[in-house]
Parts: sequence; structure tokens; C-alpha cells
Amino acid sequence: MKNVEVCLTFDLDAESAQIRREDEPVKVSKGQFAIQRGVPRILELLEKYNIKGTFFVCGWVVDKYPGTIATIRDAGHEIGAHGYLHEELDKLEFNEEVVIHEHTDKLLEELDISVKGFRAPYWKLSKNTLTIIAEMGYRYDSSFMDEDRPYIYSVPESPRNLVEFPVEWFMDDWILFETHQKSPTEVFDIWKSQFDALMEMEDLKDGKKVYTLTCHPSCIGHAYRITVLDRLIRYMKSKQARFHMMYDLAVDYLL
Ligand SMILES: [Zn+2]
Repeated sequence: MKNVEVCLTFDLDAESAQIRREDEPVKVSKGQFAIQRGVPRILELLEKYNIKGTFFVCGWVVDKYPGTIATIRDAGHEIGAHGYLHEELDKLEFNEEVVIHEHTDKLLEELDISVKGFRAPYWKLSKNTLTIIAEMGYRYDSSFMDEDRPYIYSVPESPRNLVEFPVEWFMDDWILFETHQKSPTEVFDIWKSQFDALMEMEDLKDGKKVYTLTCHPSCIGHAYRITVLDRLIRYMKSKQARFHMMYDLAVDYLL
């Protein structure tokens, strides 16, 4: 089946991790770029191509920048949860973690946002995370790296299931642009190569081939980088890729 379903996802951490670590002001300001420039540029790009994306947001960001979250919501994009202060969930006790997820959920509810999906900060889950969010009514997670297409995950100690949308570091803008300082051409080539290979991959021909890209507004929002995403979208559109919000795809697995 020569078809690929694309999920463009954006982890909106803003400066939450820097605040939790009590970093100095310049490091904090690097996170704030997400709000000042990153989100507006991403929204403009998605609107240009009439694409709806999925934004995983920290509760602290919802509290501090409700206007930004409302703008994303009003543009019709999906909003999922991403911790409160970008915590390392594996370092938390069960009860501490419950408070974080419930608080973030409540802040989003106050903006009339009903959350269905979760992505772990730093892609680090605790052994309790998926049980907690499944019991809260979440329907999918996007944090594991064990597959390259979605699957049903049986939640431990719960009768509930989640759909898992696996991720990978090479499909993350932060790792390529910030950690490894790859050039725009290199990043485009990696992301395009993965798309092309999925398109051709015979052993994935049963079921959906899902291309999940993870970007951060504070990273991809920079001028030369947003043009890479623009070019990638244009390329994938030329190959008849279909773009989805994650929950819309999750629903097909939950039937
Ligand atoms: Zn994050």
C-alpha cells in the first residue's frame, strides 16, 4: 500500500523545564522563543497547507500562556498533555505523578479542551504513567520507540487500552538541529528518507503506515528551520500523504 499517514506533532514546553531547574534568565528566554515566534510561525505554516497538527503542552504553559493555547485550539488543532513543568516522570512517586497529570488536565479543561493524548517529557515514562492516564480517560500515548507504526498497548493493572504512536530521536527536531547541529539539508534528507522508505516498505503494507514527526516551537520556529518543515510538507503533499491529528487516527485503532 503506497500511502503514508502523517502526524505533525509539536511539544510545547516553552520555558517550563528551565523554570523547574531554576535556570538563569538567558536559558529561560530560549524557551520563551516558543511563545514569541515559534507557535505563530507554526500556525501560519499549518494554515498555509490547511493541515491540522497535534500540540502536546505542559500544564505550566497553559497556566502562563492561556492566550497562546486558546489560539492553537481556535485554529482547530489537537491539544494533548505533556506533564506540568516538564518533569522527569520516572523520578516521581505515584501520588506526586497523579497530581501533575490531574492538574494539567484541569487547566486544559478550563479552556474547554478535552485531552485524549499524552506524550512524556524527555520521552521518559514512569512505570505508573500509562496506568494513571488510561484511568483518567486518555486514549493514546506517543512516547515508546519499540515499533515504527501504531499499535494497541495493554495498560498494566487496568482493563483499559491505549493506542501507542511510537517516536524516534531522528524524527525529533531538537536532536538534529540543537544537539547535533545538523544542516537544513541534512535534516531534510533524514526526514524525507524516512518518509520515502515507509512509502516503499513491503513489510509494513498491512495496516497504516504512520509518519510521526516531533518538533518543538522553540527549535523549529527559527527562520531557517521552519523552511525545512515547509519544504518537507510540500514534498509529502506531492506524494499524496494524508495529514492527521493523532486522536483522529487513534480512533481507527480503538474501534
Ligand atoms: Zn517536551
